[in-house]
Amino acid sequence: VIPTSPPRRSPNILITGTPGTGKTTTSEMVALAAGLEKVTVGDLVKERSLHDGYNEDFDTYWLNEDKVVDEMESMMAAGGICVDFHTCGFFPERWFDLVVVLRADTKNVYDRLEGRGYKANKINENVESEIMQVVLDEALESYQEDVMLVLDSNTVDDMETNVEKIAVFVERFREEHQH
Ligand code: ADP
Ligand code: MN
Repeated sequence: VIPTSPPRRSPNILITGTPGTGKTTTSEMVALAAGLEKVTVGDLVKERSLHDGYNEDFDTYWLNEDKVVDEMESMMAAGGICVDFHTCGFFPERWFDLVVVLRADTKNVYDRLEGRGYKANKINENVESEIMQVVLDEALESYQEDVMLVLDSNTVDDMETNVEKIAVFVERFREEHQH
């Protein structure tokens, strides 16, 4: 049985992409510009222990996808959430009204992750993943193309344009879902 919940008046948006493509920065700006609540899944995983321990090799937690979905279900039902995470295939498709995939050039991903102090193997894995468009393919397999936006995130100009596009989507959605 699929639980029925009242339709959302405010959209849920997923911002995904390889680490370093600008998800967190973009989500913060979207949340401010469009009046959404930002959920950085990586922080939630740490704060609420939604993981199965620590992966020393990659300085990251082993994600427990079921725990993450259970934890987020009630907030997503309310709507108006901007979710920021680097993997996207395990979220229920019905959660999102818009799925944004951010893309960045290899050099930008490299420089941003190096600037964050990531270990070489972690930088290389993410750079390769961006080149192989792993996150984009995962999104294409998991969501309908008509809810997806694939956006370049190389420059500050790109970021501003992206935030504006997403804010316009939010406005329209609210207008169409007033009643
Ligand atoms: P993610 O959350 O995808 O790992 P962040 O939002 O943390 O990425 O961005 C990583 C770094 O790159 C930050 O220092 C941010 O300011 C910078 N950055 C992100 N997107 C852009 C962009 N489009 N233009 C310039 N700098 C960016
Ligand atoms: Mn981030």
